[in-house]
Amino acid sequence: MSDLSKLNQVLLHPDRRFGADLDTWLVDIGGDGLEKAILNPEHILPTIREAKLLGLGGSGFPTHIKWEFVANEPSDQDKYLICNGNEDEPGTFKDRILLQETPHQVIEGAIITALATGTNQIVFYINPEQEGSLEAMKEATNQWSETDYVNQVSNILGRPLEFYIVASSGHYIGGEETAAIESIEGKFPFPRGKPPYPAKAGLFGLPTLINNVETMANVSHIIRNGAEWFINQGEGDSHGTKIFSLSGDVLRPGAYELPMGTPLSDLIHIHGGGMLLDRKLKAVFTGGPSNTILTPKDLDVPLDFDSVQERRSSLGTGAMIVISEGTGVVRRVTEYVSFFANSSCGQCPSCKTGTFYASQLLSRIDSGNGTRADLDTLINLTRILPGSGRCHLLDGAIKLLDSSLYHFMDEYEQPLRHS
Ligand code: SF4
Repeated sequence: MSDLSKLNQVLLHPDRRFGADLDTWLVDIGGDGLEKAILNPEHILPTIREAKLLGLGGSGFPTHIKWEFVANEPSDQDKYLICNGNEDEPGTFKDRILLQETPHQVIEGAIITALATGTNQIVFYINPEQEGSLEAMKEATNQWSETDYVNQVSNILGRPLEFYIVASSGHYIGGEETAAIESIEGKFPFPRGKPPYPAKAGLFGLPTLINNVETMANVSHIIRNGAEWFINQGEGDSHGTKIFSLSGDVLRPGAYELPMGTPLSDLIHIHGGGMLLDRKLKAVFTGGPSNTILTPKDLDVPLDFDSVQERRSSLGTGAMIVISEGTGVVRRVTEYVSFFANSSCGQCPSCKTGTFYASQLLSRIDSGNGTRADLDTLINLTRILPGSGRCHLLDGAIKLLDSSLYHFMDEYEQPLRHS
């Protein structure tokens, strides 16, 4: 079980800090959003559209568009909502905090989402290593099942609203949308080819919406406080908040909920307390870390999806792994690429062999046994592999590798054997 007490958790909104007791949640904060939603279910989707809520699991895709696909899908059978809490990327630890410490806001958000999209079967899909999350969600959904809210929503939907807690297979790749569907169906989490998209034929062949836990956690607050309230939370042109998982060589690693668009330097130097032992910042592995690396010249970047993308990286899950001068980049990249190689599901030959081969070459170079030919082959892999895998895993691993070669080529060249 992850030990959350070791993390700093600064959540911006005090109303996010709730334990597993539903009565406390309903008396103090919760319920208002859901009551509004029950009174005017037709207002939910336009409000989420107006708030410009983005998918916070890494995609940054507009939430309302995803919802509309499923809401517009005709079905005389069940529709599913999967709340994705698989969270298995290195350096990401935000969903487990939401699930363990504030389960009711996630559940209330999911119920409101169900009302907006006609999804009556809600599946909370959780990493089994996070026993605390599984326990908290079991207890919390049991409490909700006994409320009249569930009856009211069932009546509006015309079908019983039901909750399921499903432990994922624990594979990193099981967080990919279609892999999550396979896993919930009891199979190995192989990502599926698309189309068909989950909105049309998802879990058990029925229309399915998949949203990240953090996205769900925002829904009840937006419906309760209005779209404008949410938009005004962001810095500059950004809107809403984001929970950043800050780790590595900073004084105060932790999960920080901050206005979207907060500069990277503020996250590291103000919230994170600055660099450990006053060391110099060397690089930041972002979003998972299957992305382009940020360097000290990017300290001014506003942490929102568009701005980080303009630096040719990605906000991803909001994970920021900070390393200082003196930390070997090749060693780190070797560890991460090896993680991706071990996480490959093996369906695509290019991914299975490509990530494995890349991690072998990296290990060789890192241990001082690599040659110029090894480095050339590594560079070649970054040119031929992108776009050849079915899911994001291969491209993510290569993006990281390519970026590290671009910024830190000297560290790759320095240990080469000259024979
Ligand atoms: Fe599996 Fe890799 Fe293909 Fe993704 S890219 S489906 S992880 S083999």
